[in-house]
Amino acid sequence: MSLSQLARSIAESPTLRLNEEARILREKGEPVINLGIGEPKNKAPINAILQGAARLTSGDVKYTPTDGLPSLKKAIIRYTEETYDRLVSPENVIASDGAKQCLFNILFTLCNPQDEVVVLAPYWVSYPEIIRMCQAIPVIVTPEDGGFHPRFEEVVRAVGSNTKAIILNSPNNPSGAVYSDDFVGRMVEFCETKGIYLILDDIYQKLVFDGLRPKPGTAFTRADSESTKLIIVNGVAKLYGMTGFRVGWTIAPRELVRVMTNVQAQTTSCVSPAMQVAAEGALVGVQNVVESLRLTIQNNRDVLMQELRTFNGVKLRKPEGTFYALVDFRAYSNNSVELSNFLLKKALVVTVPGKEFGMEGHLRLSFAGTVKELQEAVARMKWALDPTS
Ligand code: PLP
Repeated sequence: MSLSQLARSIAESPTLRLNEEARILREKGEPVINLGIGEPKNKAPINAILQGAARLTSGDVKYTPTDGLPSLKKAIIRYTEETYDRLVSPENVIASDGAKQCLFNILFTLCNPQDEVVVLAPYWVSYPEIIRMCQAIPVIVTPEDGGFHPRFEEVVRAVGSNTKAIILNSPNNPSGAVYSDDFVGRMVEFCETKGIYLILDDIYQKLVFDGLRPKPGTAFTRADSESTKLIIVNGVAKLYGMTGFRVGWTIAPRELVRVMTNVQAQTTSCVSPAMQVAAEGALVGVQNVVESLRLTIQNNRDVLMQELRTFNGVKLRKPEGTFYALVDFRAYSNNSVELSNFLLKKALVVTVPGKEFGMEGHLRLSFAGTVKELQEAVARMKWALDPTS
């Protein structure tokens, strides 16, 4: 079939594929444990459900303004001003169908063919593919010390005359690492000076552990969203465990938002009004759901670490945020795809190969599920790989 070469070249999302494989196996009655997907088990906040349902039953579910309902934008502005100590006006905000669409629209709006976008390894699987869909070139910076993020100097070295933007994701999917305040602050200043856009994918921003409070870099404290090259992406998926609602947002200079709005108007028009109202419900409702989700996930992290510590040969680094651990399994295999397939077949445990994130020899384990699942999954993995441990 003569399909577009570009479309054909886009890789399948490994996490969504593995999720589908797990679902099929489960339907066949296999007791699969899914450590692949980043999706907490909690129910959506009650205020989100009630508000979204009320909107649906009212029958008022027509198109909304492309960039989002004014009331949702107001809630997003309040959230952003409180979180970043940053002045935001409605023209700086656009709501989209999840952070994924935000990132696509941003990169589609920013990039000309052959522009370069710098991505720090290990990285979220979708960044390189979205960049390529926008006809730009992903430039991956791999930490020379094998750590969980490159040093500032390494990132700077990757920047050239074609660099349009740098993407930072902290807390980081897949490693669970939180970049230091100093590192983020230096990146903000560097991008301002160089005139490069800095895209902060802050989707896991509130999901940090052990009292860690990452501060937005000082360079953008009290900054007006107009005056910087900074773009912030966030959404309700990980903040409230509302993955299927598909609501995310972008905070950016108004000219960028204006053009992104045209792009969105010609593609998806707007986010479903019921889902917008649900997201607003979550943002303006009681916020203890965020803390209770955080505590549950932190406890899961501790259980997973404890279980893995008794696993001969695996090397661990404690995640500081998110619900992912990137674990070094090189003692068992350097080929993470083969290892992940083996674990699925033999132990019925879904893991994501580190190769997908630029970290071969590692597996990403999601601890968003239940404690019982985590304990059972590690016991099965040990049985499959190292029956003596
Ligand atoms: N950014 C990162 C780093 C993610 O891990 C994910 C989802 O896994 C997203 C963005 C997408 O978020 P959303 O579900 O809001 O599209």
